[in-house]
Amino acid sequence: MNAQNGKQIWLEAWLEGKPLDTSLCKVNHPPYRFVFLGAPGVGKGTVAQLMAERLGVAHLATGDIFRAAKSLPQDKLSPALREAIGYMQRGELVPDETVISLVRERTACLHWPAGFVLDGFPRTVPQAEAFQGILVKEGLKLDAVLNFELPIDFIIARLSGRRTCPKCKAVYHIVNNPPKQPGVCDVCGTELIIREDDRPEAIRVRMEVYKKSTAPLIDYYESKGLLKTVVAKGTPVEVYARTLNVAGIV
Ligand code: AMP
Repeated sequence: MNAQNGKQIWLEAWLEGKPLDTSLCKVNHPPYRFVFLGAPGVGKGTVAQLMAERLGVAHLATGDIFRAAKSLPQDKLSPALREAIGYMQRGELVPDETVISLVRERTACLHWPAGFVLDGFPRTVPQAEAFQGILVKEGLKLDAVLNFELPIDFIIARLSGRRTCPKCKAVYHIVNNPPKQPGVCDVCGTELIIREDDRPEAIRVRMEVYKKSTAPLIDYYESKGLLKTVVAKGTPVEVYARTLNVAGIV
């Protein structure tokens, strides 16, 4: 399997709910199953992207589903998804029931043979409890929950320089991880954008929401003995190498 083809298959299943043919994934390692936690801008999406490229794992980001839904015609969206886009644009969390039912519709992706990294879900304790039920039902177990830590001034610098590909979801940074040609995606040639929720007003809301709703997940997963910490300072490749180390992959 070519890593890029593999990505296309699970990405369509994740973003659009298309059927997933797992027999197309050929890897020579056991499935890795992780949840990534950390404030917006900490760089966990970039590490997840590298894990997808290099190990073939499915990078499952709930935020990507909402952003993909935003570019669809309004009449193609369910009322719940239309409502969810409004929350996302304001930087607020989408209601738990909406996110949980969305993940329930996409449990096939959790069975991707190379494994998965969940990025941005669960985001609250009720979501984590519901996800635990989903894992039990699907007969799956998490290897670990990795918590990415970075001081706030580093986070703000990362968010303000972030550029995203609206098509293939690749993430760049104008200084730390620039595309080969400025403003253009290396992978698919699409023009890069600044995410709407990376605007300063939305960033402030997202940081507050993180402290209130997502930080309690650290205690939740610590109490389950699953939590491991990754120091997220350094270049993407350095943080990636540290992540594999903490995760016990190398
Ligand atoms: P992200 O790309 O993970 O920062 O997500 C972008 C936005 O999508 C968030 O600010 C929320 O509005 C929404 N979102 C993504 N994942 C979740 C989730 N698990 N629970 C609630 N809202 C979410």
